[in-house]
Amino acid sequence: MKKGIIAKKKFGQNFLKDTIVLEKIIESMPKNNNKIVEIGPGLGDLTKFLVNVKSVETFEVDTELCELLRKKFKKEIEEDLLHLHCGDVLKIWNGSLINEEYDLIANLPYYIATNIILKALLDEKCKNILVMVQLEVAKKICAKQGEKEFGSLSVITQSVAKAEITQTVPPASFEPPPKVESAVILLKKFKSKFDEDFSRFLKICFSQPRKTLYKNLSSSYDKSFLQQIFSRLDIVQNTRPHQLSTNDYHQLYKNIQESLDGRYTTKQAKREQSK
Ligand code: SAM
Repeated sequence: MKKGIIAKKKFGQNFLKDTIVLEKIIESMPKNNNKIVEIGPGLGDLTKFLVNVKSVETFEVDTELCELLRKKFKKEIEEDLLHLHCGDVLKIWNGSLINEEYDLIANLPYYIATNIILKALLDEKCKNILVMVQLEVAKKICAKQGEKEFGSLSVITQSVAKAEITQTVPPASFEPPPKVESAVILLKKFKSKFDEDFSRFLKICFSQPRKTLYKNLSSSYDKSFLQQIFSRLDIVQNTRPHQLSTNDYHQLYKNIQESLDGRYTTKQAKREQSK
């Protein structure tokens, strides 16, 4: 670790020190002319590789690290190869993070990694996401239909992107080592954004992953209404949420929306009506 710098837990600082892992991230980068956005450059170990490839827009919350980065990348900043934004990326991120097409490439702070990925999936300017996250989160994002990790995060992601784990990374590759295993995921977006109402619907579908899908949905919709939709789509009533595919969820959502057709049939709506 750099002399005098103490990793701050509150900012999720685990610095990636393994050159082989860093090189593999660079090898996995999509080949295109998009700008690179890096969230949390830290000590600049990944940044150093990235600025060799293209110009980079970075966002770092830790003022001490910002100072260090300004010195370390003085030349690249002067040559306009690196732009350093000091501040909390989640506060800076309104609509689009930057005004041109970009790929997000980063070793993310794990405490906000899912939040950042969802924001990037919603950001039309973001085209690809290549990020290090906790292995558990990587599995949830990339899981396939039928796997136990397959949940709302998998369906949301795979509705707009092709998702894969490019490498798993042990704690020893970082300084200080995190308590968990990590993985790099590559999300290649084929759609510019997802429908936020659909993601709210998915939260209901997966609210209790071990219960049946029918049971989860019946907390929000009439049972007879659901029975009609399930039989129309050939979904058996004891289906568990992880057993449907991403496409099945789109069909289910579309059928429910079309059948509701503005009618006040959800239980919640009825409750509101009777108030
Ligand atoms: N990229 C470096 C590396 O690979 O060694 C550091 C990665 S470290 C896991 C996460 C970085 O994200 C830290 O530098 C941390 O200060 C920064 N960070 C944490 N929260 C942030 C936020 N809200 N906005 C911007 N940066 C943040």
